[in-house]
Amino acid sequence: MSEPTRELLWGVSESIVLRLHYVLFAIATVIFILGVFRWYRILKTGRNDENRFDSLGKRFYYVVRDGLAFARLYMREEKMGIMHILVLWGFVLLTIGTLTLTVAEYITSSFFRGVFYLVFEATMDLAGLALFSGLVIAIHNRYFAKPSRFARKWELAKDDGFVLALLLVITLLGFVVEAIRISSGMPSYTAIIGGFISNLIPFDLTAYRVTWSLHSLLAMLFIALIPYTKLAHIVAAPLNILTRTERISARTIEDEEYMGAIEPKDLQWRDMLSSLACMRCGRCQDACPATNSGTTLSPMFIMQNLRKTLDESFDFIGRQRNDDVLLLDTVLDMEAVWACTTCRACMEMCPVYIEQMEIIGEMRRGIVESGEAPPDIRDFLTNVQKQKNPWGEAKYKRDAWAKGLDIPHAKNTEFEWLWWVGCGHAFDSRNQEVAKKLVRILNEIGISYATVGREEGCCGNDVRRVGEEGLFQLLQEENMALFEKYGVEKVFATSPHCYNTFKNEYEGFETKFVLEIILDAIRDGRLKLRHPVNRKVTFHDPCYLGRYNGMYELPREILRAIPGIELVEMPRNRENAFCCGGGGGNLVREYPGEDRPNNIRAREAGMTDADILAVACPFCMIMLEDGVKMEKLDEKLRVMDVIELVYQSVLGEE
Ligand code: SF4
Ligand code: SF4
Repeated sequence: MSEPTRELLWGVSESIVLRLHYVLFAIATVIFILGVFRWYRILKTGRNDENRFDSLGKRFYYVVRDGLAFARLYMREEKMGIMHILVLWGFVLLTIGTLTLTVAEYITSSFFRGVFYLVFEATMDLAGLALFSGLVIAIHNRYFAKPSRFARKWELAKDDGFVLALLLVITLLGFVVEAIRISSGMPSYTAIIGGFISNLIPFDLTAYRVTWSLHSLLAMLFIALIPYTKLAHIVAAPLNILTRTERISARTIEDEEYMGAIEPKDLQWRDMLSSLACMRCGRCQDACPATNSGTTLSPMFIMQNLRKTLDESFDFIGRQRNDDVLLLDTVLDMEAVWACTTCRACMEMCPVYIEQMEIIGEMRRGIVESGEAPPDIRDFLTNVQKQKNPWGEAKYKRDAWAKGLDIPHAKNTEFEWLWWVGCGHAFDSRNQEVAKKLVRILNEIGISYATVGREEGCCGNDVRRVGEEGLFQLLQEENMALFEKYGVEKVFATSPHCYNTFKNEYEGFETKFVLEIILDAIRDGRLKLRHPVNRKVTFHDPCYLGRYNGMYELPREILRAIPGIELVEMPRNRENAFCCGGGGGNLVREYPGEDRPNNIRAREAGMTDADILAVACPFCMIMLEDGVKMEKLDEKLRVMDVIELVYQSVLGEE
């Protein structure tokens, strides 16, 4: 019995059509290379302020993990992770198979027989099946299951269906070509699916040649279209993953001439690359509080608008033809720029690590630097500049809440920890109650601490998020001078906003969040949770604690340690948690949109059977108390800080 093999390019090797195909393939390749070259030139016009190629080992690890094995996606959405694995690996194997055939045809076919051939045929068959199955899942998901992330469409998106249909037709034609070849009387060997379909299709050489040509032409069209359609993400997404950042702090651009992002060239080249990597999956906008509230902001639209803007500003070989394009109103409108709560959910959800929020931050900086910020943002900044708090309360009142309490001041005492009270706890009456209870808890723990009373200023976290970099640096210098004056080496903050900026954007001292101090004391027995608190509690993750600093379990561990508390989760929790809407300057603004993030979150909490909505951030307290009232849930649901629940358990009083 002869060794299993087959004639390469069977049925077409002699035809003129084959030569024509080589010409067309060369043209498709040139169009592809031209498209890649054009985007390379466009990306070169972007800024290059950050090293995106250090620690290459780690970077490649993420490419393999999230770009090739889709682990980031799989962990959140099993079905979509599997779909991507099937499509990518089916496609890759079929491409390798085609290249192998080319090598066998034009270099040597000696290897193309026996066991190799049997494995080759089986692999091609299975790869085709994988690609087909992945495409069916994708089509079903997009057009039949229709998850909420597809609810808001980028109106200029025309190629979603086309790209899926093109791939599906190429795949099906591949099976038909295989089947007609086998139906000519050749053994199918390990090509089980091709063999099965061959029983359904009678042999016809002309039909074979037509199908083969169509399959081949569509594959060439696919290659040529990659740089010009959403297919660009096939190349751009792995590169985007390779160039991801682990930085939590806002971008720092040390260039005297840089005044924020006003024109496309003010963005990083990596942002431009990201506009190609975005495949319009909608995961970012589904998680975005601004999109959910019906504002004009969608983080997905940012990327799509940016790509469109770049596309229109450069000619077909990447020469700039339009250099007076502004980002405002082409990429984002004014409402959208300021509706961002800087919750980081878009960046957390994006499977390819796009930094949508950072683009908004850079645009905010450009608008603030140009003196064009809306009046409420200008008021916010003036309040912080003059009175060191967002509400413009007189700064001498900062320590008024502490009147009558025996709180040590740094100038009168030796201390280990500086308690940074923060604007929320110092000026907002509801949060002042929390601060007062914390004093009793700190005394119970016996920690050596002090405050700086009315000398405390603003940490600058939200000032920076609003884009006022100059004021942030001023506040940072003032605060560092204050810490130096009192010899501060350790700081604990009551607000996740202050905690975040001290931990990630200041240097020279140790920073803890107040709940870390409390949990340490519970663990080592300095704080006794004596009294049961018989309540059902749901916990709302503050963005600046969770997504920014990964502290998801710590507050839950405290809540679980309190006797009597039953912890129930809202459907969106931990990294998926929905923002209260108070970040990025929105605490003191009238929020645009038909709905508001705090109302949406209050409704979510109301849907659990919890009677306490626990928070760990003064902004969340303000926003969610308001949301609970607006949604008329205040009879059923009470908003309490985790500190207050600890207080009840330690001291037995409300
Ligand atoms: S940071 Fe939050 S509010 Fe801003 S665009 Fe991203 S998801 Fe939306
Ligand atoms: S930015 Fe990321 S999450 Fe948003 S649509 Fe694009 S790929 Fe999806």
